[in-house]
Amino acid sequence: SVVDQAFVTLATNDIYCQGALVLGQSLRNHRLTRRLVVLITPQVSGPLRVILSKVFHEVIEVNLIDSEDYVHLAFLKRPELGVTLTKLHCWRLTHYSKCVFLEADTLVLSNIDELFDRGEFSAASDPGWPDCFNSGVFVFQPSLETHQRLLQHATKHGSFDGADQGLLNSFFSNWSTADIGKHLPFIYNLTSNTAYTYSPAFKQFGSSAKIVHFLGSTKPWNYKYNPQTGSVSEQSLGLGSQHQVSFLNLWWGTYQSSVLPLYK
Ligand code: UDP
Repeated sequence: SVVDQAFVTLATNDIYCQGALVLGQSLRNHRLTRRLVVLITPQVSGPLRVILSKVFHEVIEVNLIDSEDYVHLAFLKRPELGVTLTKLHCWRLTHYSKCVFLEADTLVLSNIDELFDRGEFSAASDPGWPDCFNSGVFVFQPSLETHQRLLQHATKHGSFDGADQGLLNSFFSNWSTADIGKHLPFIYNLTSNTAYTYSPAFKQFGSSAKIVHFLGSTKPWNYKYNPQTGSVSEQSLGLGSQHQVSFLNLWWGTYQSSVLPLYK
C-alpha cells in the first residue's frame, strides 16, 4: 500500500461521525490501498473516537481556537467561517504527499485509486452552478504554505457562500478554465438528491457512479431504515425519487453490515 497518500474526511460531532464511519468502511470494502484519516474536533465523544480508530489509521483532533495564532486571527475576524476553517486543516497533513478529501456525507461505490493520478486542485462541477466546483470531493497536496495562504484569503475576502466551497472557489479561481485534467468526472461526486433536469443523462450514466454525495440538509442518517426489508421507510422519504432510494439503501446497508458490528 501507498503510505504517503491518504483519503481524508472531517467530522465535528458524533452524528457526522456515523457518516465518516460509513465512508471509511465503504473505502475499505473496495480494496483500500491508501491511509485513512479523519479530522475531528473536541466535541466528538470518547466512545466514538475509539470506534473511529478501528476504521481510520489516524484520528486527528483539530482545534480551531487553540491552534496557531494566524488561525485564531482569521477566526476572530470571520467567526462565521467556523467549520470552513476546520476543513482547511487538511492542508496541514504534510506527512502525506497527496490526498483525496471526501466529506462525511459521501459514499464510495467502487475503487477510486485513480483519483491519485490527478493534481491539486481537482474537483467535480457543482450541480447548481457548473462553473464552480463542488468541495465535497477534491484532490489536494498538503502544504503549510497553501494552508496559510488559504487562511489569509479567508481573513481578507471571507467566503461568498459563507462556507468552504465559496472560499475554495475564489482561491482556486482558475479551476473552470485552466486545466480540464482538474475537472473530475461527475460520477466522482454524484449528488444523490439533486432533481436532475437532464434525466436521460442520469439514465445513461447514473449507474457508473463511483462516489455518491448526500448533499443538502437531509442526510442518510435522518431517514428511518427497516433492516428486514433492506430499505428506508416510505414515510420518511417525502418526494424522494427512485435513484435516491437505492443510494440511501446502499448507505444503510453499509451501516448495518460494516459499522454496527464495530460497536460490539
Ligand atoms: N461537517 C461536520 N459537522 C457539521 C457540518 C459539517 O463535520 O456540523 C463536515 C462533514 O464532513 C460534512 C461536511 O462538513 O460532510 C460538509 O457539510 P454538509 O454535509 O452539511 O454540507 P453539504 O454536503 O450538504 O453541502
